[in-house]
Amino acid sequence: MDETDGHTAPVVRVSARAKINLALHVTGRRADGYHLLDSVVAFARPVGDGPRTADTLEVHFGPAETPHLTLAGPFAGDVPADADNLVVRAARVAGGIRAVRLDKHLPVASGIGGGSADAAAVLTAAAAHRGIDRATFAAPALALGADVPVCLHGGSCRMAGIGERLTPLRLPELPILLVNPGVAVATGAVFGALARRDNPPLPDAPPPDDAAGLLDWLRSTRNDLEAAAVTVAPTIATATTALRETGAVLARMSGSGATVFGLYTSPAARDAAATALRRTSPQWWVACGGVGGD
Ligand code: ATP
Repeated sequence: MDETDGHTAPVVRVSARAKINLALHVTGRRADGYHLLDSVVAFARPVGDGPRTADTLEVHFGPAETPHLTLAGPFAGDVPADADNLVVRAARVAGGIRAVRLDKHLPVASGIGGGSADAAAVLTAAAAHRGIDRATFAAPALALGADVPVCLHGGSCRMAGIGERLTPLRLPELPILLVNPGVAVATGAVFGALARRDNPPLPDAPPPDDAAGLLDWLRSTRNDLEAAAVTVAPTIATATTALRETGAVLARMSGSGATVFGLYTSPAARDAAATALRRTSPQWWVACGGVGGD
């Protein structure tokens, strides 16, 4: 149910969780230039008191020509403060939104879909406010960006096509550590550096819904963008190596980078890894979470 903002306008609070590509295969390219993907996508649940694995938004409803954007949070300075912000673009699509406050906790242009998750959160808030199914916004979501539909869905999915073909998956929750080595990577530059665009798709069999089975399944998959991203930003390889050295059972890049993730067999192992990495690389963004489970 809506709250009010202390005056009369209704307010909906939503979170925009980091999108993690547990696997990301690039399987082709359409004539119009869009890449075809085959990906397992899951969302991070924030845990602990450290850096957060989600942005938070307050969506204020009411008539306005241009929705007003207020920015706060550790990465507020890295996003556009004007109508180019995906939050404002989504608010215009949804209509009836007077203002949005965005608390930006996720590093920007970092492969964890921050902008897409923010846009989807605005659409989700609008659907909740109107009492309609958020899937109503699936088509405008895709027009906002390839990752917006999966963020609008909000649960673990296999994502194919250019981001529009979603098949919900039941994944177990695994402890995850997200590491951003502080370099922004432009998605276009990474796709431009790809050696091949016609890689094999994910295995036919869906990922198992137990932790050990999922980890085995993931080992037979890849992120096809990782090698290309490393040529653009070599520090990505330094971060994945550091995660492996902390005992991550799988360390890989998400999206087009530069954020990398490590999966662990226990929350204690993840937390110990976080402590170690914050000590050895204090300039990195290191955030604990859980991934999957929904
Ligand atoms: P993906 O994993 O979907 O490729 P990403 O994490 O690589 O996404 P974003 O953080 O979504 O990338 O940022 C991509 C670009 O979008 C940045 O250049 C940024 O300036 C712009 N942008 C616009 N609005 C936002 C927003 N609300 N949050 C983050 N970036 C935004």
